[in-house]
Amino acid sequence: MNAVRLPPNRRPVELIERTFPSANMAIIRGPRPILIDPGFATDAAEVEAHLDRLDLHPRDLQCIALTHYHCDHNGAVEYFQQTYGVPVAAERTEAAAAVDGTLRRMVSRWYVQPAPRYTVDVYLDDGMVLETGGPAVQAVATPGHTVGHLSFVTDEGTLIAGDTFHASDVAPVTPFREGATSLHRLIESIHRLLAIDAPVRRALSGHGPLITAPVEAMEAALERLDTWVAEPERAAWHALKRLGTYNLMLTDGMTERDFTTFLLQAPWFVDYAKHAFDTTPQDFVTSYIAELKRANAVVIDEGVMRPTTPYHPPPPGWLAGDTG
Ligand SMILES: [Zn+2]
Repeated sequence: MNAVRLPPNRRPVELIERTFPSANMAIIRGPRPILIDPGFATDAAEVEAHLDRLDLHPRDLQCIALTHYHCDHNGAVEYFQQTYGVPVAAERTEAAAAVDGTLRRMVSRWYVQPAPRYTVDVYLDDGMVLETGGPAVQAVATPGHTVGHLSFVTDEGTLIAGDTFHASDVAPVTPFREGATSLHRLIESIHRLLAIDAPVRRALSGHGPLITAPVEAMEAALERLDTWVAEPERAAWHALKRLGTYNLMLTDGMTERDFTTFLLQAPWFVDYAKHAFDTTPQDFVTSYIAELKRANAVVIDEGVMRPTTPYHPPPPGWLAGDTG
């Protein structure tokens, strides 16, 4: 292997933590650098600033590689592809969910989150290795949170785990969008990550701080997910809280009345009411909002419901963007 020439005092793997609603990002440095999960559409300028800080130009990137198709991870892809021609690498079904018009509409409407359109240049399969000339990056199939979710592990011991598990939380599972067995697949995926045949020193998940004890974090996630298998309602409540607060972040809060109207039309809410709780959205909405308040997931601030999790709302009007 050729000697890797990096500027002094520069880490070969840059891990960048972001505030909700955006997701964390990683840059694997080397002669052919890779950027993993550029974040939300409105993060593009910040991504450019990070690249600039590392003396990189977007055109230097070998590719943008994606863990999964959710807009907090892939939103900025379109900008970099259109502006600089950066190639995009994604798993095949993830690519379909982001690229195919009908599938893209289905998923963006279900989550009520606009999905930017881009094309995928490289399909990533389980086990595929991307050489950067610096740390090599291997794709690991970790379905569950989404059907084709990928994690990435570098040969210097960093796991980029997307939304498989977080430092002190687990990823929401949405069986009505990602398949009835999505919880079981997520459990299987975390077992796969635990079985990686290389020392994993640290992990960056899609949200939250750097994880310095990844094995412990994965074991804690598995323990929680196992309780969900025994009590599926807990998985449903977890996903419902994440989806509700996420939609409140995207709109920077709503009045209770507007949120009620929103929920009754939100496909994710309708599906959970009908299929997880065997009731109607109209009958479920009051107890749902009461539970968000009871769990301190939201506060009412001058009549507006806002999530208690810190977040930077995207600019107003962004939601009216490309959902079709
Ligand atoms: Zn996600």
